[in-house]
Amino acid sequence: MPKGNYQLPSLKDAKIRTREAVKVEHALFKLPEQTRNLGVGRKFYLRTYGCQANERDSETIVGILESMGFSQTNEEQDADFILLNTCAIRKNAEDKVLGELGMLKKLKTTNPDLIFGLCGCMAQEEEIVQLLLKTYNQVDLIFGTHNIHRLPELLYQTMMSKERTVEVYSKEGEVIENLPVKRFGKHKAWVNIMYGCDKFCTYCIVPYTRGKERSRLYGDILSEIQELKDQGYKEVTLLGQNVNAYGKDLGIESGFANLLEEVAKIGIPRIRFTTSHPWDFTDDMIDVIAKYDNIMPAIHLPVQSGNSDMLKIMGRRYTSESYKSLYDRIIKKMPNCSFSTDIIVGFPNETEEQFQDTLDMVNYCKYDLAYTFIYSPREGTPAASMEDNVPEQVKSERLQRLNELVGLYSNMNNQKYVGKVVNVLVDGLSKKNDQVYSGYSEENKLINFTGKDVHEGDIVRVKITDVKSWSLNGEVVSD
Ligand code: SAM
Ligand code: SF4
Repeated sequence: MPKGNYQLPSLKDAKIRTREAVKVEHALFKLPEQTRNLGVGRKFYLRTYGCQANERDSETIVGILESMGFSQTNEEQDADFILLNTCAIRKNAEDKVLGELGMLKKLKTTNPDLIFGLCGCMAQEEEIVQLLLKTYNQVDLIFGTHNIHRLPELLYQTMMSKERTVEVYSKEGEVIENLPVKRFGKHKAWVNIMYGCDKFCTYCIVPYTRGKERSRLYGDILSEIQELKDQGYKEVTLLGQNVNAYGKDLGIESGFANLLEEVAKIGIPRIRFTTSHPWDFTDDMIDVIAKYDNIMPAIHLPVQSGNSDMLKIMGRRYTSESYKSLYDRIIKKMPNCSFSTDIIVGFPNETEEQFQDTLDMVNYCKYDLAYTFIYSPREGTPAASMEDNVPEQVKSERLQRLNELVGLYSNMNNQKYVGKVVNVLVDGLSKKNDQVYSGYSEENKLINFTGKDVHEGDIVRVKITDVKSWSLNGEVVSD
């Protein structure tokens, strides 16, 4: 191994769960003196892969770098520091990053002082870090999801020593408050309510890369949301791998239902949350969602499979029947609620009958949207060592059949909106047409629309005129 500073990840240590209480670090984030002006006159380029948790981490990273004097550039070739915030959920997410590293390597020939960094979920994987150390010499700095707050020192060390720095904590640290943040949205904000996951679904790498479930304190979350409201934000999305488990680690009963109610009372116009695991979804939660108009009637409820035996092997802790019963209870209280889901096809040894049960589940829930994936083995997870008798071609065919059915219901659900008026939070001009605005309805439908005197961040009333595959068209109406 070349000279450098190394603290490498270990999957074995990442698996360990302890019952220690979560310590919340309240100390104000303080930039170490020597890093204060490190970025003055220097530019960074940041690319983010994966889910909202990574997007939210990137907001912190940008906040930290700007507080060090760096400015952000959208051109890789102008950057003095390039950082990739990576995702490990499926192999194709990793392949994208490795390909990108190869392409960016040539930038070092024109700028030998360029620092390359990699952080996020891939950095937590033992196997990936070994591969980077062996084959990707261009990577100068690697840090993980648990020590983003260490970025100033790590970058300083890398720049001064001109040696490689790897610092990845296998065990999650404390919950650190008061980190700088540069919000990417002006009207919509993500708010972490908890970190990590203890569910250990047998296919999933997240509990290893994101550590154990750690909830933020009520007061910290509520004051962040109050601040966002005071700054004019219109929508917050409460984030966690499994928001329904909020507060369990703090010993709070009905933690998420109570938190949601307190957030609703702050009076921010729109509240969303993701992701809710069907297992922890209580009737208290349904009551709170139904009670407050500012909690949006759009629920992401990942099902993964419609077959109870498959769900058991996946370690999901609910059955096909209990999922359907939960769906029924929600729809009974909120008939206008839209539903989205995640589905995995081609889990080891999935039979045609089991796959049919998944199609039946789609027929039952008539999802508005489904994120569908072919199972991807993840090193260190229990499913990765299961023998698999499903040929790749069968998996692809199943994915295609599933997507066709999902598309059918999405279109059918969208058709029901024609002629109706919906409230839309305006994101701005549409990416495809600068005569048209776009935004999302309360039910989380993408709406493209025309109208006069429309401004980003407004909530406007739009009459739906026609339907596209994944969006709705309309025009602004005045009451
Ligand atoms: N916490 C959420 C839940 O419980 O459903 C999921 C978060 S995960 C980032 C997003 C989705 O990725 C999962 O719902 C699952 O469908 C998919 N996923 C996770 N591991 C996968 C794997 N090994 N292969 C394919 N898809 C996977
Ligand atoms: Fe992964 Fe399951 Fe945790 Fe979701 S609940 S992040 S799928 S282990």
